[in-house]
Amino acid sequence: MSLTVISNRGPYTPERDSDGTLRWKPPAGGLTAALTPIVERQGGRWVAWADAEPDVKSVDLPQEEARFTLDRVSLSDEEVERYYTGLSNGAIWPVSHGLSNLVTLSEADWRVYRQVNARFAEATSLHEDATVWVQDYQLALVPNLLRRASSRARVGFFWHIPWMPYSMMRVLPWLDEVTRGILGADLVGFHTEEYAHDFVRAALALPGVTRTEGGVRFEGRDVRVEAHPISVDAREIMALAESEEVRETARTLQGTLGGSRVLLGVDRMDYTKGIPERLEAFEVLLERREDLRGEVTLVQFAVPGREGLEEYRALRERVEHLVGRINGRFGTSLWSPVRFVAHGASLSELVAHYLVTDVMLVTPLRDGMNLVAKEFACASKRGVLLLSTFAGASEELQDALPCHPYSPDHLADALEAALALPEEEREARMTRLREHVRTHDVHAWAQGFLSRLAEITS
Ligand code: UDP
Repeated sequence: MSLTVISNRGPYTPERDSDGTLRWKPPAGGLTAALTPIVERQGGRWVAWADAEPDVKSVDLPQEEARFTLDRVSLSDEEVERYYTGLSNGAIWPVSHGLSNLVTLSEADWRVYRQVNARFAEATSLHEDATVWVQDYQLALVPNLLRRASSRARVGFFWHIPWMPYSMMRVLPWLDEVTRGILGADLVGFHTEEYAHDFVRAALALPGVTRTEGGVRFEGRDVRVEAHPISVDAREIMALAESEEVRETARTLQGTLGGSRVLLGVDRMDYTKGIPERLEAFEVLLERREDLRGEVTLVQFAVPGREGLEEYRALRERVEHLVGRINGRFGTSLWSPVRFVAHGASLSELVAHYLVTDVMLVTPLRDGMNLVAKEFACASKRGVLLLSTFAGASEELQDALPCHPYSPDHLADALEAALALPEEEREARMTRLREHVRTHDVHAWAQGFLSRLAEITS
């Protein structure tokens, strides 16, 4: 079975050497890194946006030993602005996270979103026994476009972000078109049962769609809708956690923290991640507990991005203001309560941080899954995972300490409870969490989805 993956971002990024030679760098992490070995093993194609070197339309990869072909879709600046920044990140993203107050709706953006989805579908060459796996909310119309091109292709689609109840999703004026687009697939995947259930509800709002046991019936075809929770490369993270290099970095880090206990946050700078609420909770904790001043440090990574949208610029300002306020109120010449890192770190740097962490703060207001929670579960043996009940991961990671991320007072209570958890219980919880992620890793996720797609279409 040859596989075609379609995603907005591609695997392998082009880079020019100093002498101008083009080199293709493998993905460092995330979804593309998880799917690359599968496409390389099975052979096939990958269709993705040519976000750099747009003149290269097609390339066989890896460079040393070609195993699949990357077909690249070039987009103009205006197309990127409307399809990606405007419609995907400015409209679908906030609505799907239940934060419709932050939405920007524009018909012109929607038109370009449709055009770009059509371009991705056209760039996909379908043959008789093609299996196609379309990824994520930027490309929701592609499954049905492919279905119209071939009634026989096996089409899978994965929606990687939350799917809200119908009454909230309806804020998107084009919800019916988006839903219909997705229903072109044979198998539609979400990270949780809750999102899958709410998607079925939206599908049933379309005329002629009926309920089936495993999904819905749409235009005379069965469409399965299932939860397939994504995960991380557990073995890679465990190996990093054991490696001498990472341990050395962890020791250095520990040295700079002067024996203080560590609270850690690792996020993109995104309003869904609950960073300001987390900072406010930490401030409440320091107000309440004088004994903890000088004894706990919050290390917060916030990877910048999406600054083309006003909501993201406003968030950064709010976060910077809060960091300044907390450090100004409580800091001393020997101790800064918040160490704020406004750039990304490599996975091995993050793992070194996981190793020295006492309480990992995964407190999104809403998150499709949250992979940082699973990475921490693989790396830490003695920490506590404080996990928002609004993260997809909380459906699975039952041994995390649950928390309510919207209220700084509640979050401060949860922080106190986490800091007070006895060592024995912390270790027992981490052992069970690690075991769960080890046996449900990202390879199992991808294989599980593809086997299911093969099974239901055979
Ligand atoms: N990440 C990273 N460097 C950073 C911060 C995050 O490599 O400085 C990675 C992190 O290891 C994780 C991913 O980015 O694999 C974030 O995934 P998650 O599901 O937590 O959130 P998303 O950004 O997809 O909303």
